[in-house]
Amino acid sequence: MTSAESGRRAELAENLKALRARVAAACQAAGRDAAEITVVAVTKTWPVSDIRLLTGLGVTDIGENRDQEAAPKAAECADLPLTWHFVGQLQTNKCRSVVRYADVVHSVDRPRLVRVLAQEARRAGRVVTCLVQVDLDDEGTAASAAPRGGVRADQALPLARQVTAEHGLRLGGVMAVAPLGTRSRDAFSRLEAVAAELRAIYPAAGVISAGMSGDLEEAVEAGATHLRVGTALLGARRVFVR
Ligand SMILES: *Cc1c(COP(=O)(O)O)cnc(C)c1O
Repeated sequence: MTSAESGRRAELAENLKALRARVAAACQAAGRDAAEITVVAVTKTWPVSDIRLLTGLGVTDIGENRDQEAAPKAAECADLPLTWHFVGQLQTNKCRSVVRYADVVHSVDRPRLVRVLAQEARRAGRVVTCLVQVDLDDEGTAASAAPRGGVRADQALPLARQVTAEHGLRLGGVMAVAPLGTRSRDAFSRLEAVAAELRAIYPAAGVISAGMSGDLEEAVEAGATHLRVGTALLGARRVFVR
């Protein structure tokens, strides 16, 4: 390992330690067991060398939000025992590529996407876990103009039902990105309610993917099982990627 590599390794180790302490404190405050939480390291804009270092530090789950970037990175990491999460908005013309490496797609938000994902998963002989992305910005704030994706809360159940009807797909649960300009905690409470409705019908669909570097405590309080963490783990991205 070069000294630059060992410096980066030390930096990532320190960030991971601080993140684990944050998650542990949030769990304690919420009366939850930290073992219920999976941290997904969102490595967009960061090199494969960072993914290798994180793997060496015990990270098992990697998240990416653009297929053009994720596909080659996943291919380079094929030797690593990783679970790959696709967390960005997904166009149907990318589904064929995404199903090859993604174990979990967090951004399932429309019927046509379910159909195409299922078709491509079957063609590839893969089973992809799908999270229904819920748009929590139903208050219609100005920030809703940003294309975050997600179904309205009242459409989550019908979409989930469609996922369960498709061979090649497995319903995992729900996902959301807290809207800008509102309290994350209120938004995550709405997600928690949708998750409870879903779980009442599909008991195995227990995933709640919520919380990023800035609001993971609120997400843990609202029952999140998966935190999608980029900045707190890898540092500030130099390139702006939504
Ligand atoms: C980039 C990204 C994250 C991570 O955000 P940070 O604030 O850097 O932790 C989480 N979720 C999605 C969908 C993202 O695109």
